[in-house]
Amino acid sequence: MSFKRARTLQTAGGAFTIDQEAEAEDTELIKANGQKYRKFLLERYASGLSTAADTCILAYLHTESGGRGTEDLGLDPDLATKHGAEHLRCHLAKEYEKPYVDYVAVPMVCKKSIGRVSVQHPTRVTSDMLRKELLALGLLGEGAKPDAKFVAEHLEADSEYMALYEGHPVAQKAFAEGFRREHVVPVSVYFDGVQYTKNENFLGFYMTNLRTGKQQLVWLLRLSELCSCGCRGWCSVFPLLEHFRRDMCFDHQDLRACIIDYKADWPAYIELCGFRTWSHNLHPCPICTVQKKDFLSVGTMTLYTCPEKLFDQTSYDEVVASSFRAARIAVPAGNPSVTR
Ligand SMILES: [Zn+2]
Ligand SMILES: [Zn+2]
Repeated sequence: MSFKRARTLQTAGGAFTIDQEAEAEDTELIKANGQKYRKFLLERYASGLSTAADTCILAYLHTESGGRGTEDLGLDPDLATKHGAEHLRCHLAKEYEKPYVDYVAVPMVCKKSIGRVSVQHPTRVTSDMLRKELLALGLLGEGAKPDAKFVAEHLEADSEYMALYEGHPVAQKAFAEGFRREHVVPVSVYFDGVQYTKNENFLGFYMTNLRTGKQQLVWLLRLSELCSCGCRGWCSVFPLLEHFRRDMCFDHQDLRACIIDYKADWPAYIELCGFRTWSHNLHPCPICTVQKKDFLSVGTMTLYTCPEKLFDQTSYDEVVASSFRAARIAVPAGNPSVTR
């Protein structure tokens, strides 16, 4: 019986009579709170706020003092320091499937290091995730004979993309090679910042299989760990994007993926493409040369035309040329430290 319930009963003047129904309710409550405690404990461990040893000890003491929900995670405090990490890995593996990841060398600024270091950073492999999805649907794999009606329903979503899918170079190449339509998957890409805690934000890169609507995480980067050489994080983002690009361009034997949609808000968009920001001193738009003061007057803007001069490759090259100046350093004749 919960303390609150006991006190209510007492103030109501009733004796402590425990009816069975109330007891069952309490068991449920204890169980639910045990699960909450487990979730809280694991979240702290996953975010690096508590060590494996602390997690095992807290779980152990919780269980020993009658708590529920962490029986399997507890480890005697004498053993926890040495075996905590292994113990958690072993028990959590039963609960969470380990995702298949590749490791990519990414320049980052880590808390423990001084300056920029190269870190082997995990990223999931998009083709692998799509393959698993198709296998689970019975559309791929040896002896897969999907029902024609099921395949037709599965492909129904394609009608929304019209020429984007049919005319996509990857799709056209795959069809020419004799790929079945259900093995050429239309994919959308999503990139955004995720606020996790007050001080910890992530950049997340996701992909969606547009036929099933299933969105999956490809990689995450901590904002605080992005390279800060002056690149606004581009050094860290680039190798992961490059890994994704290679995977998407690779001629996989069993499936192909064509990216036909790309979702990101403005900050994510400029981050992903390495474009200028809205606070740029020349013009805020990465595509045209609109002035800040005219920013809100849309004027004769349409999907195909823009009233301002476009910021194209030529204008970009001009900006670059005017930003760099060749400098000549005069060296006094006879200076022995300079070899000519
Ligand atoms: Zn950098
Ligand atoms: Zn513009």
